[in-house]
Amino acid sequence: MKIKNILLWRELPYLDESIRGYMIRLSQANYTTPQKLYKLALIKGSESNNLLMANNEVDISTLSQLTDAKNEVLLRSTFYYEFGQYISVDEKILRLIRAFGMCSIGYSQICPKCLIESPHHRKHWEIRVSTTCHIHHCNLIKICPKCKYLITSQRHFVTHCDCMFDLRRCGVQRVEETETYLARWLYEKLYCSQITSPFRSEKINELSLRHVLYLHLILSYYITHILSSNVRINYSEASRSVYSQEAAIKAFQMLLNWPRAFHNFIDSYRMIPNLTSFIREPSNQLGSFPVSFLRNFNFPVYSFVVNEFLNYCEDKSTDVPFLKDVKMKFEKRLSRIGKYIDFTALDKEYIKFPTALSILGISEYIMTHLIELEVITMVRDINGWRYCTLESIKKIQGVFEKEIPLIANTKETITFRGIQELLGKKIRVSEFIVAILEQRIQPCGTLKEEIGLNRLIFRVKDVIPLF
Ligand SMILES: [Zn+2]
Ligand SMILES: [Zn+2]
Repeated sequence: MKIKNILLWRELPYLDESIRGYMIRLSQANYTTPQKLYKLALIKGSESNNLLMANNEVDISTLSQLTDAKNEVLLRSTFYYEFGQYISVDEKILRLIRAFGMCSIGYSQICPKCLIESPHHRKHWEIRVSTTCHIHHCNLIKICPKCKYLITSQRHFVTHCDCMFDLRRCGVQRVEETETYLARWLYEKLYCSQITSPFRSEKINELSLRHVLYLHLILSYYITHILSSNVRINYSEASRSVYSQEAAIKAFQMLLNWPRAFHNFIDSYRMIPNLTSFIREPSNQLGSFPVSFLRNFNFPVYSFVVNEFLNYCEDKSTDVPFLKDVKMKFEKRLSRIGKYIDFTALDKEYIKFPTALSILGISEYIMTHLIELEVITMVRDINGWRYCTLESIKKIQGVFEKEIPLIANTKETITFRGIQELLGKKIRVSEFIVAILEQRIQPCGTLKEEIGLNRLIFRVKDVIPLF
């Protein structure tokens, strides 16, 4: 008979308790350490951080057996119901949320006054961008005032740092009411059915918690560019910078007062010194911001964000003429990156973008031009993954499918691989492909060992008249 492993002390987690805090409490009550408990629950060291996000990468069944708590009850202490369970529908956004460190991995934040009221570690403290307690109007604390180390998520007591300093004795720094709005919203969104001060914009009110947090995360990043007057700061530098807390507060205020505050934000972004120092072209006067902005918000759920940028350019273009160019380029890019289709509509009419690239044997760069020229039609599924219509790929496939025996002297010919060099900057490879499709030029032979368009050989004297 197999004996079931079970802990002697097995209290359930509190409604607002974080799974990492629960593990501390559980180990303390059972006279062990969090490290040993993670091991016993078969949760490996690196996975203890994944535990918070709880997608299918972490197995909590052993922990459930040890504590006699149902899976659902344990999952409530993680962000499974807010993030993890959506991994199949929102894979890209959730990956980014994780990569950008939505939860503090290396440390824990605490409110000393909350800990006095009840000695358990709150789940809402785990969201890194939220740095205040809306109940006590103070900053959360992440560094132990005694040993000066970060407070760890695997400490031995919820109320004490591992140097044995009682965290409830930490002095608190009071903050303005406005600085606690994000914390309050997060708290209400997590545990309450009502939000006391909703956003002005209905579009933002309709977003789920994960979508608001992602939007907030990216906007905080751009605000750090303004605060530090440096657009070259990358994401991880921004999240560690001295401006990160201020940026997070400002980004949340922008969400509250959307879209007016968003327009003010772009006004400020345009004023960052050195944004355009090397760029002469008028349409580039916002630097790489439009490109980066579109890349970050290129999801159907954020179409209103993308449109608001276009609205901004439109509204201001009378006073700031270069915004007309910015808008035009932005719209062009928008049409190039493909419209969204319903995943269920995906069938034999579409093939994955990388597959299309390998069938044609061309680089992504050339493919992008072909999409711009409307030779190839591209769409995206709800996750943003790219597909090409099979019909448009087949059209090009017809050009290189049949074998053509080479009769010409090889000195007078050029392979498709070599064509770029011959064309120089006179015409693009994509335009050359169009010429083949329109039969303005015909191949004079094919190569057996190559694939896709690389199979084709042309006579140099046939190519020259094209440009
Ligand atoms: Zn508090
Ligand atoms: Zn300490």
